[in-house]
Amino acid sequence: MLDCIFCKIVKKQIPSKNIYEDDELLAFHDIHPIAPVHFMIIPKIHVDSLGYCTVVHQALLGKMLLLAAKLAKEQGLENGFRTMINTGHGGGQEVFHLHVHVFGGDALLPRT
Ligand code: AMP
Ligand code: ZN
Repeated sequence: MLDCIFCKIVKKQIPSKNIYEDDELLAFHDIHPIAPVHFMIIPKIHVDSLGYCTVVHQALLGKMLLLAAKLAKEQGLENGFRTMINTGHGGGQEVFHLHVHVFGGDALLPRT
């Protein structure tokens, strides 16, 4: 997708603070964190949202969640973390490239 901001991050056309990368996934810090630790995991392929995923994406989605737990620990969230997948306008999604938010580090997290 030419004008997708996360596709541009994948192609390194705009900068990001990456914490993980492999052939399928990329994880980087959210530019507007809502907690002391806040990063997101995206697939390198463009998928608009969880609402457009099919069985074809099943393994990829599982890999994203397992990576969320692994990276959360590495980022110091040993006590736990929150994941969030905003889906569609009704779900408050702003960037239409599938992503899993992972955040934590406060005793009381905002319930967004
Ligand atoms: P949402 O689609 O509602 O899950 O929100 C998109 C998220 O992407 C927001 O938390 C933004 O702060 C974040 N975001 C937007 N642009 C960038 C960027 N260039 N680098 C890192 N995070 C971004
Ligand atoms: Zn994209």
